[in-house]
Amino acid sequence: HLSVRLATVADYVPTGSRLADIGTDHAYLPVNLAKRGKIVGGVAGEVVKGPFENAQHEIKKEGLDDRITARLANGLRAIEASDHIDTVVIAGMGGTLIAQILTQDFDRLTGVQRLVLQPNVGEKNVRQFLMTHGFQLIAEKIVTEDGHDYEILVADRSATPQQLNEEELRFGPYLLAEHNAIFIAKWQRELARTQQVLAQVQSAKAVPATKVAALETEIKEIEEVLQ
Ligand code: SAM
Repeated sequence: HLSVRLATVADYVPTGSRLADIGTDHAYLPVNLAKRGKIVGGVAGEVVKGPFENAQHEIKKEGLDDRITARLANGLRAIEASDHIDTVVIAGMGGTLIAQILTQDFDRLTGVQRLVLQPNVGEKNVRQFLMTHGFQLIAEKIVTEDGHDYEILVADRSATPQQLNEEELRFGPYLLAEHNAIFIAKWQRELARTQQVLAQVQSAKAVPATKVAALETEIKEIEEVLQ
């Protein structure tokens, strides 16, 4: 049984695909998808030994050794050409790290058509990566779980990826258009947090004007979206 967050990620893994789940931890996602027959097989990649052993254990326990291979490797180095991976999931990390992992060994994405990415923070970095590396955002979701919000970004390889403007990069084109209650609550919280930071900065001595201006711009951008 997957969490709401991972279940939403799973929804965007195409039926019949060969999946690489990078930073898999317990391998819950690939194991669930393989048990349901949604993926044909794939790789569960982990860079840390403990989580890698968790993944190995889970895969073995569920009798999926023949379909899912756990690999101890940094990022996309878990993927080998002979795996014929067509879908990559990276979930539960910061957006900066996700973008770094994807950029570092970009050549390993040859043959990959779909990326399902779930940054915990720093979503903008992920959208920036997609836009500049030949991937087109095709869907975005925002879900709440245990008092946290999570964005799920889905992208397909494209010869003509769309150009996102500053607002779209930050808020997400689909999330902006949908403007649902979770999205609004998230940005209301971000607005309050940024206003608090501005107040603190302004009460300090010798504040750089650029810092204040940047915070003011940020506040204005969020206010515009919430209008
Ligand atoms: N993907 C699972 C999920 O969404 O529930 C687990 C998320 S867990 C918070 C993040 C995992 O990513 C950790 O197990 C960590 O060891 C792994 N990780 C971090 N950097 C990594 C990298 N460069 N390559 C592979 N795994 C990495």
